[in-house]
Amino acid sequence: SPALAFQQLTKSYGATGAVRGVSLEIPAGQFVALVGASGSGKSTLLKMVNRLVEPTEGRVMFEGEDVADLPLAALRRRIGYVFQSIGLFPHMTVGENIAIGPRLAGEKLGEGRIAELLDLVELDRSMAGRMPDALSGGQRQRVGVARALAAEPHLLLMDEPFGALDPVTRDALGERVRGLHEEFGLTTVMVTHDMAEALLLADRVLVMDAGCIVADEKPEALVAGA
Ligand code: ADP
Ligand code: ADP
Repeated sequence: SPALAFQQLTKSYGATGAVRGVSLEIPAGQFVALVGASGSGKSTLLKMVNRLVEPTEGRVMFEGEDVADLPLAALRRRIGYVFQSIGLFPHMTVGENIAIGPRLAGEKLGEGRIAELLDLVELDRSMAGRMPDALSGGQRQRVGVARALAAEPHLLLMDEPFGALDPVTRDALGERVRGLHEEFGLTTVMVTHDMAEALLLADRVLVMDAGCIVADEKPEALVAGA
């Protein structure tokens, strides 16, 4: 079965159709960019995958199972999620922030594993003891990615992960995420409003408009048509 399948997925807020009957499949190991104007439904679509939002109709299948049937803790352990505003806990060190997911599941991440996760996002290991407010925006975002990887997810969801960063930091982090995807064969879905970033990083670009997927192309096809 595909890593992810949307089946007639719909979410309405009153009269607003945020997501309108989306059906598609994402094979394991694909890097998908989801682009579209603000308000087109990208975040809502992503949030239905790990059940931050419940669908009005339709369903999300993750590795062949309806996410509605999976215990939330198990689901979220298998899915790494990176938000735009990372929201690190300010009173916890970088290391504690990275370990929070497993800790809430009753599992302790050792110092060695935290160091490994810092390596993966190219942060110095000494950062583990720092407080978040002593980090740059780009460094905080890297911690957010490390935190999302802590439980070795099969799927990485990112909602405008680099939106607030300057272009150089953004490119560096984009490349690192692409590297992680390749290294682990990690299925990745990244929401972005930046088509150039989507074309650069993704294997497949989905364009969303008014709650519908209006284009589903390989980057080459979109570049050729530009
Ligand atoms: P995008 O991520 O593409 O900017 P969203 O998924 O955030 O789009 O929003 C899609 C539509 O759903 C918008 O019209 C937005 O105003 C509406 N919407 C999103 N979340 C809520 C909510 N919690 N309550 C009401 N309307 C919402
Ligand atoms: P091997 O199968 O050779 O042990 P892997 O590539 O599976 O190697 O893993 C290498 C390292 O990367 C290990 O430390 C492992 O914990 C980590 N790793 C593997 N997959 C992920 C993932 N999806 N997210 C974070 N770390 C991972």
